[in-house]
Amino acid sequence: MPFSHLGLSAPLLRAVAARKYLTPTPIQTAAIPAVLGGGDVWACAQTGSGKTAAFALPLLQKLATTRRERGRLVRALILAPTRELAAQIGESLRNYAQFLTEPLKTLVVYGGVSINPQMMALGGGADIIVATPGRLLDLIDHNAVSLSAVSVLVLDEADRLLELGFTAELTRILALLPARRQSLLFSATFPPSVEALAAGLLRNPLRLEIPAEPATTPDILQRAIEVDPLRRTQLLRHLVQENKWSRVLVFLATKYATEHVAEKLRKAGLAATAFHGELSQGARTQALADFKAAKIQVLLTTDLAARGIDIIELPAVVNFDLPRSAVDYLHRIGRTGRAGESGVALNFISAGTHAHFCLIEKRHGLDLPREQIEGFEPIETELPSPPTGGIKGRRKSKKDKLREAAAGRAERPADSPATKKFSWPRLR
Ligand code: AMP
Repeated sequence: MPFSHLGLSAPLLRAVAARKYLTPTPIQTAAIPAVLGGGDVWACAQTGSGKTAAFALPLLQKLATTRRERGRLVRALILAPTRELAAQIGESLRNYAQFLTEPLKTLVVYGGVSINPQMMALGGGADIIVATPGRLLDLIDHNAVSLSAVSVLVLDEADRLLELGFTAELTRILALLPARRQSLLFSATFPPSVEALAAGLLRNPLRLEIPAEPATTPDILQRAIEVDPLRRTQLLRHLVQENKWSRVLVFLATKYATEHVAEKLRKAGLAATAFHGELSQGARTQALADFKAAKIQVLLTTDLAARGIDIIELPAVVNFDLPRSAVDYLHRIGRTGRAGESGVALNFISAGTHAHFCLIEKRHGLDLPREQIEGFEPIETELPSPPTGGIKGRRKSKKDKLREAAAGRAERPADSPATKKFSWPRLR
C-alpha cells in the first residue's frame, strides 16, 4: 500500500517523499490510520521498524488541524528513555513537519544540560514536547509546563523506560495527564512490567504485533572472530585499517574500557573517541555529531548507544565485549544495516566468552563459523566446545595451534561459509 492511501495530508506526504521513503513499513501501514482514527495503540516495534514515523506523522497531522491555546500548555507529550533518543525523535518531527503551512512548536527537553533555556523555551507552551521523564518532572516542579491539556501521549521504548528505573517518574507523570487523551505505547519487548503499564494506561487499544521486520530486512553480515582478550585492541585497529570502514561503532563492557581503548587507538593514529553516560551532555552530543559527520572514525561505547541511535551509513559494528543478553545483541548489531544499507557485525570471542556467545547464537538460531584473523590467532587456550555437543576435554597446546596455523588448517570446516546473513528474529 502506498503512503498516499494512509490518510496523510499533502505536506506530510511531501516530507515522506523528500526522505525518499517509497512504501510504508508494516508498522506504519497499521499504526498511521489507527492513530489518525483517534484510538489507543499498543505496538510491538523495534528501532529500525520505522516506528518513529508511525507515530510522528499522524500526530503532526492531528495537531496541524487544531490550534493550541495560550499559556504553559502542551498538546502532545512523547516520553523517551534517553536523551539521544529524545533528540532523534525531535529531529524526525522537525523533518516531517517541514512543509506544514502552520508551523508547530516542538521542544526536546532532557537532563544533563542547564534547565533555564528549556524553561524559557517553554514560555507560551508547546505543541509537542519530547522529554526524558526526570527532566520533565523538574520542569513541572518549576512550574514551567502544564500537562493538563495533553491530548496525545506517546511512550517510546516503554520497556527501556522501565528497565532504566523510570517507573516512579512515569507514575507521577501519568497522574498529571488528563483522563481523556489518546495514548500510544511502543515497545520492543513485552515483559510483565510493560504489560502492566499498558493495562493501566491504554483504553481498548489496537494491539499491533507486526512481525518484527525492520524498515527493510537488514542486510547484516555477522562474523565471530576468535581472539585473545589482550590482543583485541590491536585486532580492532588492524580491521579498521584493513576494511577502510568510514565509521565503526564498538561496544565495550565498561566506561573505563571505552576510554582506555579510545586512548590506545588515538595513539595509533586513529580518530577514536569514547561515548558513555559519564560524559557531560555537551561531550556526548559533540561525539555523536562528530561521528555522524565522519570526523570520528571509531566510536567506543557502552550499551548507551545500543538502542535508538540512528546513524545512517554505519558500515560496521564490533562487539569488543559481548553483550550481556541476546536482546542487547540485537539492539547492538541493529545499529548497522539500517534503512536498506548493508553492514557487518563482528563479535570478538575468546576462550572465556565462547560459551556465552553460544547462548546468544542459540537464542537467535544462529550458528556462525568461527574465524581467525592471520596474525591474531588465539593462543591462550583451546576454546571450550559449545554446550550442545562437541568433544570436551582435549585442549590443544600452544605448539599444536601454531603448527595448525602454519599448515593453514583453519578451525572452520572447509565447506562452511565464511559469513552468515542475518534474518531478523522475532522478539517476543
Ligand atoms: P525508526 O525505527 O523509527 O528508528 O526508523 C529507522 C530508520 O528507517 C530511520 O532511518 C528512518 O528514516 C527509516 N524509515 C522510516 N520509515 C521508512 C520507510 N517507510 N521507508 C524507508 N525508510 C524508512
